[in-house]
Parts: sequence; C-alpha cells; structure tokens
Amino acid sequence: MKNETAPPLSPEQRSLAACLRSLKARWQEYRSLGSFEHFVEFTLALDNLTEQLNRLRLPGLLRQCEGMENAALGLFGDESTHPINPQDAAALERQVDTLVGTIEAVLAPSTDQEQRRDPASLGLGTQWAKPRAIWLIAAEHHPWGAGLVEQLGFFGFRVCRFDWREAVPDEASPLVALFIPGANGYAAAELQLVQRIRGEHPTSQLFCLSVPPSLEVTVALLRAGADAAIQAEQETVTVLGRVLDLLQSQEQEPHRVLVVEDSPTAVAMIQRSLSQHGIDSHPIGNPQQLLQAVERYRPDLVLMDMYMPHCTGVEATRVLRQLPAYQSLPVVYLSSETDMGMQVEALRLGGDQFLTKPCNPVLLAAVVKTKIERYREMQRHSQHDSLTGLLNHSAAKGRLDQLLKSLQGSRERLCVAMLDIDHFKSVNDLYGHPVGDQVIRSLAWLLKGRLRASDIVGRYGGEEFIVVLRNAGLDEAEAVLDCIRADFATLPHAHATGTLRATFSAGLADFPQRATGNELTQAADEALLEAKRQGRNRIVLAADKPSK
Ligand code: GH3
Ligand code: MG
Ligand code: MG
Ligand code: MG
Repeated sequence: MKNETAPPLSPEQRSLAACLRSLKARWQEYRSLGSFEHFVEFTLALDNLTEQLNRLRLPGLLRQCEGMENAALGLFGDESTHPINPQDAAALERQVDTLVGTIEAVLAPSTDQEQRRDPASLGLGTQWAKPRAIWLIAAEHHPWGAGLVEQLGFFGFRVCRFDWREAVPDEASPLVALFIPGANGYAAAELQLVQRIRGEHPTSQLFCLSVPPSLEVTVALLRAGADAAIQAEQETVTVLGRVLDLLQSQEQEPHRVLVVEDSPTAVAMIQRSLSQHGIDSHPIGNPQQLLQAVERYRPDLVLMDMYMPHCTGVEATRVLRQLPAYQSLPVVYLSSETDMGMQVEALRLGGDQFLTKPCNPVLLAAVVKTKIERYREMQRHSQHDSLTGLLNHSAAKGRLDQLLKSLQGSRERLCVAMLDIDHFKSVNDLYGHPVGDQVIRSLAWLLKGRLRASDIVGRYGGEEFIVVLRNAGLDEAEAVLDCIRADFATLPHAHATGTLRATFSAGLADFPQRATGNELTQAADEALLEAKRQGRNRIVLAADKPSK
C-alpha cells in the first residue's frame, strides 16, 4: 500500500491543474516560436482555464484570468502582428506568472495551515473548492448579525464574525465574506476593506448587504471587487439562498449546442472549436431532423447554417418558433452571407445573432457561452419559485419526465419523494403568514443544502415539496430523507416572541417499479397520506405494486 499523507487530488483539482499545465506550455511555445497560430493556441488554453474557474466558482481567480484573456485578445491581431512586441510580451508574461502562482497556491496539498485549522474541511473530499467558512464583517451590535450567524450555523457553515475596525483574521479564505455596513454606510474605509479582502482572498465570494439603491455606491462596491451588492429589503433570504446556490452550482451541466449544418467540413470545424471550450455539441445535417433533435438532445442553443437542402436556416428557425417550448431558445446563424439586408431579415424572423463563416473559434465559443448563460439565467426566472428559489411545480415535473425519458433502457435507479409540512395551517394561524413563509424557506434551504446538485428539488405547492434522488434505491433515499427530517424537526424558526419547531412527513416511491412521472408522484403522494395517517413526522415507502 502507498503511504501518502496528502489526500489525492479531486477530479476538479486535476482538471484545473491540467488546464494550468496546458496554459504554461502554450505560453512557452508562443514565447519560443512566436507565430499567430501559437498565440491562438495560447488564448484557447486561457479560455479553457477561464471556463474551468467559472465552473469551480472561483470568482477572484476568474476575474484575474478574464483580465488576462482581455489583454490577450487585445493583442490578437493576425499573422502580420506576431510575435508581439517585447514590452507587451513581458507584461503578459508577468500576468501569466501571477495567475499561475495564485492558482498553484490554491492547488497546493493540504499541508497548508487552512486545512490543519479546519479539520472539517478534510472530510469534504471533492468539495475542496468550497470551504464552508463564512466571514461576517459587521458592527458589533448590528441588530440582525446574531440571527444570521445562528441561521448560517444551522445550515452547516462555520461563521467567523468580526468588526469593521478589527484586523482581518489571518485565516484560510472563506467561502463567502458578508459585509454589513455600520452607520457610515459604504464610505472610503469600508470600500478599502472590501478591496483588501478581495486582493487577499481571490477565491472567496464577497457579498455586500444593506446596499443603498444608488448607482454610485453599487459601482464603487463592484469596482472594489464585490461579487454581489444586495439591497436592504432582500437581505437574509437572498444571502442564504445565494450561499446555498454557490454550494450547488459547481456541478453545472455542460452547455449543449445543436449544430444544424449540411457541410461535414463545417461541422467538424465547429465541433472542434466547441469541444476545445468544454461545450457539448450534436450535429444534424438535415433540417428535417430538427424537431426530433431538439426534443431528444435538449440544446441550450442552436447553431444554424443558412443554406441547406430542403429549407433555409431562417425557415427552420421559424418552424422552431411555432413551438412554445422553443420560443426563446437562442438561435445563432452561421453563414457566409454578407448582405446586410438579408441578415437583418433573418434576425427579424427569429434568430438571435449572425456570425460569418469561417468563424474565429474564440469568438464562436464566446458568443455561444454568453448566449447560453443569459438563456439559462432567463430560464431560472421562469422555472424557479420566488419564495424559495427552488424549481416550481411545472419545472420540477418537467425535469422528472425528461430525466425518466433519458433513463429508458438504462439501469439507473431513482426515487421520488413528496414532502408536506405537518399542521402547517396552525403555524400560519398562530404566528402569521410571514413566519409560515420563513418555515417554508428553511425547509427549502435545508433540502438544497443537503442534497446533491444532480438531485431535483422543487416546491410542488404551498408547503409541499418534491424531491428526486438519482442513483438511489428506496433504502438509501429513506435514510437520507430521514436524516433531513430529524434535523428539520430541531431547527428553530424565529417568531415575534420566541421560536417554534415544525416537522414534515414524506412518501417515497421508486423507479423502475413505477415507470412514469405520474405514477411515481401519485405513489409517493399516497405514501405521504399514509405518513400523515400514521401520525406525521415520518417517512413512508409506497406499497409494492401489485403484480398483474
Ligand atoms: P397536514 O399535517 O395534514 O399537512 O396539515 P396542514 O395544516 O399542513 O394541512 P394542509 O397541508 O392542507 O395545509 C396547507 C396550508 O398551507 C394551507 C395554506 O394556508 C398554507 N399555505 C400554502 N401556501 C403557503 C405559503 O406560500 N405561505 C404560507 N405562509 N402558507 C401557505
Ligand atoms: Mg449549407
Ligand atoms: Mg399541504
Ligand atoms: Mg401540510
């Protein structure tokens, strides 16, 4: 057996390290060979690294990397402008060195002080990029500081609280630093501290709370390096919601692009550019397959050739736009069309952007990624419930159906649970609707905080939730949910004169015993009713399906 003291690198660490090695190699190649081609390869490596940092939610490093990408794109030019002049090369090299140094420090094995100081983080395994420490920088007697510390604590965060005037602790980078200003608001000294923490902790998220609705203050905070400026009325809800989002969003699904293009050469080039940027793609050579392909592949964007057999790209896009589900799916045309009038007409008929072929791979990837990010953000708004941030009823149901479709013929197991808070009417009656709302939110957060990113968590109705646990049989799902049930029962919810406790009941059904979304939710619902009948605050498994 090997006798190693440092824990092995997680998959995320390994791919980050690989991106970094590739960046260093591409830069060295460019330094010694100096051709435009090599510079393109270097910018691609840089872009890959940006993508990786984005995936890992490392905003400080990301910003540093993006700054460098911008500098490199500024020097892009063409064959005639390479090698770039020595001053520019030296400046870029300094940036490369700094970035590489910072990331290598992040990747350094766990003998550094932060891991020793926080043994809990050792148990996190692959979650290395998300230390669960939170700093709260607030005036000592700030009215809601204490409540926030308690709540964050319950959801599993270790909160280190300090005053604006105290020295910044010489500790490992927190997951998030929360700033609550004192009577001065965000004045020069406060901005300076934000900036300093930004500089010293490039991997942390900085959330500034109680930001006045002023463009000037918001811009100043963002310039100082804040990741979010949260206004007074949104506070606790937003803060907790965002922190938990942060923990989950690591395992974001890859971007999916459907390429509708009849030329195999063009397809090969496009797919190569996209895959170099970590973007999944699926090509179809015939627009007649379009509807089937979007249905099956569920793209986040369509790259559409203009001229193909059977119909033009514009016609294919118009067909797509007739279907409600694809009305806002981004469509980017790829064409050698240079006639401005034609381009405008194509956009008017339902396209989002025009790129001329052959397309620069960096530009193609950048357009695809930004369009997809916007689209996903928009989807988030229409698919998520505003009280809890969870998927809403129809989105959760839709995801379940989609998932089941993709599982047909596979051996993956899956469980569906329906949860309902017990005697919730009396919570509303005794303590008021707003307190009831907070109880609903807390359960939502607990579910989000405890379950995996690949699981589906939705708010099914008022105080009812749906949970889909992937790759889990009934026993495992029951154990996980029962643990959450027991913890929820001990969670204190604040009301005007003290705290209250609430419980929930749940019913569980499994796939493939039940094969469709409806069968699964119905069986889970019946089990939930049984749990209520048996006295509540418990999990009940659906009865075995009678054999026909
Ligand atoms: P049981 O243990 O049988 O579930 O009893 P219950 O009182 O929870 O009964 P039921 O599930 O039928 O009651 C749901 C109540 O939840 C009714 C409704 O007033 C309340 N409710 C629904 N949506 C919301 C919401 O968004 N906020 C608040 N505060 N209350 C809600
Ligand atoms: Mg064509
Ligand atoms: Mg109910
Ligand atoms: Mg209820």
